[in-house]
Amino acid sequence: MKRAIITGAAGFIGSHLTERLLARGETVVGIDNFDPWYEPQIKKQNLLSSLQNDSFLLIEDDLLSFDLSSILQKNDVVYHLAGRPGVQDSWGSGFSSSVENNILATQRIFEAALTSEVKRVVFASSSSVYGSSASSSSRQVDPISPYGVSKAACEQLAQVYRSRGLDVMAMRYFTVYGPRQRPDMAMNRLFRAALPGDYVFPLRGTGAQRREFTFVEDIVDATIRAGSTEAKNIHEPFDIGGGVSASLGEVIEKVEKIVGSSVRIELQSAAKGDPLITVADTEPAQEILNWQASTELQNGLEKHYVSVLEALQLTE
Ligand code: NAD
Repeated sequence: MKRAIITGAAGFIGSHLTERLLARGETVVGIDNFDPWYEPQIKKQNLLSSLQNDSFLLIEDDLLSFDLSSILQKNDVVYHLAGRPGVQDSWGSGFSSSVENNILATQRIFEAALTSEVKRVVFASSSSVYGSSASSSSRQVDPISPYGVSKAACEQLAQVYRSRGLDVMAMRYFTVYGPRQRPDMAMNRLFRAALPGDYVFPLRGTGAQRREFTFVEDIVDATIRAGSTEAKNIHEPFDIGGGVSASLGEVIEKVEKIVGSSVRIELQSAAKGDPLITVADTEPAQEILNWQASTELQNGLEKHYVSVLEALQLTE
């Protein structure tokens, strides 16, 4: 029986991955510490349907202290998604959380995975490792935020543990959206700022910043392909991007059309560490994983909106 270990199983992406692997008939062990960085109740909600499934075991614990070798077994596939996301919160004193939950936790995972002889670790890296270079032909690891530095360090750790014999694949996710998106992320906040209420979206910069937005189901698809491909010891991280880039201004227009009302906006100065444009090179993922994003931005946003409405009804 195939067994998947998912760290960060209660989070935005991890909870979708958990559901999809369970639907494929796999046994899943999820680990999450329900970090209060955002509302733990949202994370409990994310796992409601998976917890009904007998093939799912949830371990509520912290990767920084939990004895990982007590659960990892030979041939497990480990999907390591737990971490402290968010560029803006990684500045100042926030960096210690990035160091602990990204770098230290990842090193503990790699170490335990190596000694337990797991089959593979698939690691959630980020387009943030590119800094401002992801749109140019000279794309390289050149982070411009402390968060990006923490993910780049994890990629280097992956390289170190690969050289000791651990099969690690790193996935550089590009701005993920869709149902259960984290409350700090732009699309969730744009929908809230277009619905009745007081919430105002803080638009940092002019709205010209372009992102390769990637629908969460496409991210999950790529991640599972990485966990199950016959290809081994892939050294280069994969770019996992939605295929089309859009500016924040264009997304605001789409959100306004979907909701049928204007987004309340407060203009603010550009954010530190926020690149003007991110573009993914998905050719390696197409060649090796046979993966390509298939969700159009419009379609993905409509699905996202339905989930925002459902969540609002739940909290009323
Ligand atoms: P999320 O915050 O919703 O999920 C992360 C989960 O990890 C949370 O449930 C949290 O409680 C858990 N966690 C954090 N530290 C932990 C620890 N020490 N021990 C146990 N559990 C811990 O975030 P997400 O958006 O689902 O992101 C998942 C991963 O993908 C992260 O590593 C993130 O950096 C990466 N990523 C996300 C995006 C995106 O657009 N969402 C883009 C690039 C990379």
